[in-house]
Amino acid sequence: MFDETHLMRLSQGQINTLEKCPRQFQHTYIEQLYSPTDPERDQRLMLGSRFHLLMQQRAMGLSIDSFLEADAQLRSWVDGINSMAPSILKASNNETRESEHYRTLQFQNYLLTVVYDLLIADSVQAQIIDWKTYPKPQNPRYLEQNWQTRLYLFVLAQTSQYIPENISMTYWFVQPEDKPQNIKFNYTTVQHEQTKNKLNELLTQLTQYISEYYQGKNFPQVREGSKICEKCQFATRCHRNYAVFNNNSESSPSLAVESSLLNLVTIEEVTL
Ligand code: SF4
Repeated sequence: MFDETHLMRLSQGQINTLEKCPRQFQHTYIEQLYSPTDPERDQRLMLGSRFHLLMQQRAMGLSIDSFLEADAQLRSWVDGINSMAPSILKASNNETRESEHYRTLQFQNYLLTVVYDLLIADSVQAQIIDWKTYPKPQNPRYLEQNWQTRLYLFVLAQTSQYIPENISMTYWFVQPEDKPQNIKFNYTTVQHEQTKNKLNELLTQLTQYISEYYQGKNFPQVREGSKICEKCQFATRCHRNYAVFNNNSESSPSLAVESSLLNLVTIEEVTL
């Protein structure tokens, strides 16, 4: 149960959920109701976690050869990054780099928390690198709107001397049968102000929802008939079981788009 007397930590995943459906946020993070684990998903997460760990060890200058010899999949991913972007794996003299770089920012009554897979910085600019062990999304717009991108850039601008225009975030997608691909987002002062305003709005709402929750009122649900409920583990609890009888995302372009966004926003941070 959430303790309302302490500052609440918020990650990008939690803000994505809050924006998507406040009731889902309540069930997941306030009441901590979880669905049974999915073995296939767990296996994917474990492989992703091992890749993150290897990249961290490599950034620290530790040898990872024995791990790569034992796992062809990991070796092809690391070789792919090596051939596509060798500069990411090699430090130059005038820059600092840190893997699993952790930052927090107090914003209203919340601690916004980010963990950068790799942060490369010099005296003028800073670049956030994030590894993804799934294919590059077709439409970068969804990734740009995802709170991982927005929050990671925002927190760095707020907690460093870099102006937004000198900050960027690059996602590298490593995938089994293909070369790694990337999407880079440059930041601007306008985006920074927009993110600040949106965070103010969302977190003011959250404070109100939490206050009302402790007076016996549930967080709001998305509208009846929303496609979001069709992929939600709380559909039965919310009496939104119509999803089971209407799950034809392959034939609906709008639903397919929404589903791909859902998949993105529910991607969790890999913890090491
Ligand atoms: S079923 Fe729908 S309303 Fe209920 S938590 Fe899930 S998305 Fe929200």
